[in-house]
Amino acid sequence: MTRKLRIMVDHGVCVGNDMCTNIAINLFALNDDLHSEPVNAAGDPLEKVLEAEENCPVSAINVEDEETGETLFP
Ligand code: SF4
Repeated sequence: MTRKLRIMVDHGVCVGNDMCTNIAINLFALNDDLHSEPVNAAGDPLEKVLEAEENCPVSAINVEDEETGETLFP
């Protein structure tokens, strides 16, 4: 069974450097304010979500299991 993810980006710290959008290209997109938005939580595999989270310079990406609320990253 594929785990459903709840992915959140803290716009208070996101600096819009386009890193996550270039790693998980189907999941993240920059909005008009140049903040990353999770536009499709199921768009990329979990490894890409983790890679994007690990490469965010300001740790703005948080990932939870949608059903249990368990924090997966960071
Ligand atoms: S990698 Fe982090 S700082 Fe850069 S756009 Fe994504 S969420 Fe924002």
